[in-house]
Amino acid sequence: PGRWSLQGKTALVTGGTRGIGRAVVEDLAALGATVHTCSRKEAELGERLKEWEARGFRVTTSVCDLSVRDQRESLLRDVADLFGGKLDILVNNVGTNIRKPTTDFSAEEYSFMMATNLESAYHLCQLSHPLLKASGSGSIVFISSVCGLVAVCSGSLYAMTKGAINQLTKNLACEWARDGIRTNSVAPWYIKTSLTEGLLANKEFEGTVVSRTPLKRVGEPEEVSSLVAFLCMPGSTYITGQTISVDGGMTVNGLY
Ligand code: NDP
Repeated sequence: PGRWSLQGKTALVTGGTRGIGRAVVEDLAALGATVHTCSRKEAELGERLKEWEARGFRVTTSVCDLSVRDQRESLLRDVADLFGGKLDILVNNVGTNIRKPTTDFSAEEYSFMMATNLESAYHLCQLSHPLLKASGSGSIVFISSVCGLVAVCSGSLYAMTKGAINQLTKNLACEWARDGIRTNSVAPWYIKTSLTEGLLANKEFEGTVVSRTPLKRVGEPEEVSSLVAFLCMPGSTYITGQTISVDGGMTVNGLY
């Protein structure tokens, strides 16, 4: 395939029914990839599948709660069967947030955040390693956050999981380079999705976000998925171990 194509590639994108994951599924499929995705809601997966089939995309789905270890194992068994023991692209997109002061987090909330945002992505990398290696040119992309790069008032647990993802990106880039696997992270600032719509409906809060953002607006899911797609393409084969912000300039704004 050409440098700007994903023709013939296979991809696993976690959490593809809404928001950033949905945009990633649609961009990868539109560029020619065959995509498998998952979420916890069967009905919503069914609705998406109908839309995707109507657009001619090659997409399959599984119902899976990625915070549960044996459901991750069964997901990867499905993927290995579907794609003949090989996988070109893994996009670790699933993540959520609980926003509260550090002094208020319970032990259960700590475990839930770690399982959903960090352990799931770590374990999926382990499980998909033989498949990515077998493809001869694997690409892992994590959806991290600017909250893993700078301190943002959206909860210390979320920030810790994203900071760990950014470090994991560097370690795997070095450890798995010999297996032909590249690893990169995309770190968005506020993007309009179901995760943030409640927060951004508060116009005072949105105003604060926008005032810190040089481009003076929040982002759209498609502005994240285009970078994800590039990081999976032959055109990016010398890029590994990087965390790239998609943030309207927020993280470089000292005082403007
Ligand atoms: P959404 O909540 O809008 O979408 C999340 C997707 O993941 C849905 O498809 C959801 O489906 C699925 N999902 C959530 N939990 C699980 C689970 N345990 N098992 C399987 N699927 C699950 O989120 P966004 O698109 O906003 O966020 C995607 C990623 O981007 C996250 O990692 C987030 O941290 C990151 N991000 C988002 C930003 C933003 O401003 N929106 C900014 C920076 C980073 P279902 O709930 O039905 O399972």
